[in-house]
Amino acid sequence: MSDPKTVTVLGGGVGGVVAAMTLRKKLPGRHRVIVVDRERDHLFSPSLLWLMTGSRSDSGISRPIERLSRKGIDVIQDEVVEIRPETRQVSLGKGHKLDADYLIISLGAELDLETIPGLAEAGHCFYTLPGATTLHHELSEFRGGRIIVLTATPAYKCPAAPYEAAMLIKDFCEKRGVAAETQIDLYAAEPAPMGVTGPDVSSAVRQMVESKEIGYHPEHQVTHVDTGTNTAFFEGGVTAEFDLLAYVPPHRSPDVVRKTDLVNEDGWVTVDRQTMETGYPGVFAIGDITRIPLKVGKPLPMAGVFADRQATVVARNIATRITGTGTPTKFDGYGECFVEIGSGKAGFGSGNFYAEPAPQIKLRQPNRRWHIGKVLFEKSWLRRF
Ligand SMILES: Cc1cc2nc3c(=O)[nH]c(=O)nc-3n(C[C@H](O)[C@H](O)[C@H](O)COP(=O)(O)OP(=O)(O)OC[C@H]3O[C@@H](n4cnc5c(N)ncnc54)[C@H](O)[C@@H]3O)c2cc1C
Repeated sequence: MSDPKTVTVLGGGVGGVVAAMTLRKKLPGRHRVIVVDRERDHLFSPSLLWLMTGSRSDSGISRPIERLSRKGIDVIQDEVVEIRPETRQVSLGKGHKLDADYLIISLGAELDLETIPGLAEAGHCFYTLPGATTLHHELSEFRGGRIIVLTATPAYKCPAAPYEAAMLIKDFCEKRGVAAETQIDLYAAEPAPMGVTGPDVSSAVRQMVESKEIGYHPEHQVTHVDTGTNTAFFEGGVTAEFDLLAYVPPHRSPDVVRKTDLVNEDGWVTVDRQTMETGYPGVFAIGDITRIPLKVGKPLPMAGVFADRQATVVARNIATRITGTGTPTKFDGYGECFVEIGSGKAGFGSGNFYAEPAPQIKLRQPNRRWHIGKVLFEKSWLRRF
């Protein structure tokens, strides 16, 4: 019988929850599984888009992380303030220190609301619970005018989300009877939608957006927003006035991770693309905190589907190392995502992001079935708690 081991999972988001639950299933009870997160609740982010248009409540899309303790996982609500990968030690905000035999870092990407002057004051960040909530209130009272959806940098988590947001906002305006008096425009910092998926999927998503008479303006890098005149300013002298602004802010890796030598020059953690192990044995990183370069010249997108699959691989492999049973597995780069277009319909993209020379992704046309699939996925995710 092996000695009791401790696996510490940093982050109780998508990757952290899947890793902890998989480990708990695979490891005999004498081995400890710990999850640390500063938040009380786990938020199912994909449903923020439905919250924005009023079909979900905040309590309906979040669950207390503490509930994982019913499954035999130790949950600590605290801030991770220092990670020492060489010794697998972690310091927490309330002064506690944790020693781990295996460490899984799944601390996600932080939203940088302050970099673009005026953006946070003038707009609603639908990537957060408060921002999606206030946007819903504004949309519910909107009597017509100009709505802008904006991405502040070309790379952000869930590359489909701003495109879905624009289409769902259009749908909401139609249901409220204000669509005829409303012009929606999407100003994107990136050159095309979901670029890493290749030209076919990208142009199909662009077509979905434009067929709803949403103006699409790619390669528009916002520089600042004037809150007095409600005007967004872009590089090259372009300006756009708005009555309502919804935006995706720049992302950055958490300070606590940037302070380690686990990161590349941009602050994101580098890992083995198949095992997710860092340069330090027994220290793994998964999800949005990692950057995995692809042959196509862009990194693997930040998405929950990858955090989920990477977490499963890492948890199984750690369990195999501890118990000496089972065979090691590899993260293969496969992923899928729903693309909500409104009217109870969604498209569905899936394929191999590790394919070379370029990802091989297929997009199925929007219909009700894929939308129902997304609803069922949400339900099964939240039932885990
Ligand atoms: C609006 C929206 C829609 C989306 N839709 C989809 C979708 O349809 N499909 C999809 O695949 N992905 C989607 N995503 C992306 C998906 O939510 C993320 O990619 C996923 O959550 C990443 O998982 P993660 O574990 O890496 O990080 P997260 O889920 O962000 O978890 C990180 C956790 O770490 C905690 N944390 C961070 N720093 C500290 C610290 N110092 N101390 C303690 N705790 C800390 C945070 O509180 C958080 O709980 C969407 C995201 C948004 C915002």
